[in-house]
Formats: sequence, structure tokens, C-alpha cells
Amino acid sequence: MDKGKKIKAIAIDGPAGSGKSTIAKLLANELGYLFFDTGGMYRAVTWEALCRNIPIDDQARVTSLAENVQIDVRAPTVDDGRSSDVLADGKDITWDIRRPEVDENVSIVSAYPGVRKALTAQQRRIGLRGNVVMAGRDIGTVVLPDAELKIYLDASVEERARRRFLERQSRGEMVDFDEILEMMHRRDSIDSTREVAPLCAAEDAVVIDTERKSISQILDYIMSLVNTSLVV
Ligand code: C5P
Repeated sequence: MDKGKKIKAIAIDGPAGSGKSTIAKLLANELGYLFFDTGGMYRAVTWEALCRNIPIDDQARVTSLAENVQIDVRAPTVDDGRSSDVLADGKDITWDIRRPEVDENVSIVSAYPGVRKALTAQQRRIGLRGNVVMAGRDIGTVVLPDAELKIYLDASVEERARRRFLERQSRGEMVDFDEILEMMHRRDSIDSTREVAPLCAAEDAVVIDTERKSISQILDYIMSLVNTSLVV
């Protein structure tokens, strides 16, 4: 990051359960920036494919869906714990995209190059407008490689599964820890080995291990990077 330069975009990447969305949302609030969760877009395509009975392994049809469905991720308009509204062709699917069947299939959908091409173009357009904190897997490496500040959050897979388990439980869902752990392993493996835009930290990202750190400690640290314009 160039010292003294105003930060227009902050990229926050990391695996599932690393705390990206929580941290990115708080950071965006603090700075008065837009919080944009790119995972919601991949989830939206996955949910729409399931709803329309498009087989997830039919790459051509899933890609065509990604190219044609109108996905909107915008500031929340309903006060029910959501951090963004997610719409597909005008329909509110904010909570549907958090269902287990979406978790199970989203990494397959997001590995399709045509799906990534369609969604990356939309994400980049929003990112280039500036004043944005964008969370995902490939923001610092592919979507916004010129972001002035790049953060990569990480934690062990067990800790990330524990967080997801507690989150689901607090929503009143019936959850099984071992199933969540297995799903995390599967998603990590697909996300980090796919050919296009695999999950990895950008060379110039600040890597933060979120295990045994509180949300406020992490946020304070990132704010100190923003305020001093110093990346260590
Ligand atoms: O962040 P979240 O868990 O909601 O993301 C869901 C999935 O979307 C990830 O497991 C990954 O497969 C995909 N994704 C991606 N690139 C992004 C954001 C999410 O491939 N920038």
C-alpha cells in the first residue's frame, strides 16, 4: 500500500469461517464504506440453479444462468440480522443462500470459469467505484489486484467449523459438527485447487491468524493499518 494514499478499496479474503464477512462489515461501517460480500453472488447462482432444477454438474447451463440472472447485493433493507440483501431477478433470496444445500454445491459452481468471468466483471465494476470493503476468495488476487489494502484472514479448519456450527445453532438450525467439519474440508479443497482464481493470499496481503483473537482486536489492528497507512 502506498503511504499516505487514500484507501479506495479494501480486499478481505480467506476461507469459509475465517471471519471475513463479520470483519468486513464492521470495517465498512467504521469507514462509511460499502460492504460487498462476493460469496453471496456465487451462492445466489447456486440457489437459482437448484430452484430451476438445473443439474449442478451441467457446466454449460449453470454458466448460462450466471450470465443471465440479475443478482443484486445491496445494503440491508430488512432488520433481521442480515448483513446485505441478496436478490435474484428481484426476488429476495438472502436467507435461502445460507441453506446447507447451497453450502454443499457452491464450490462446484464457483469453480466454473464462465461463472467466475460473469460474476468477476460485476464485482470489479462495483469495486472500481471505490469506498468499498469487498470480501471473498480472490479479491486481492483477481477482482481488485490494485486494492490499496489487502487482508487475508485465516484460522484452523476445526476453529472455522466451530464458528459455523455456533452460527447455525444460534439461528435455531439442527446441526451436526462433524458434518460441518467435513463440508469445510471439502470446500477448502475445491476452492484452493480450482484452476481459475484459487483461494490464496495475494503476495502483498497482510495475513492475520484470527484464532484466539477477538473480533475487536482484529478490527483494531486493521484500522491501525488503515490509519497509519503502514503495512507490516
Ligand atoms: O464466503 P462464502 O462462504 O459465502 O462463499 C461461498 C463460496 O463462494 C466459497 O466457498 C467459494 O466457493 C465461492 N467464492 C469464490 N470467490 C469469491 C467468493 C466466494 O469462489 N470471491
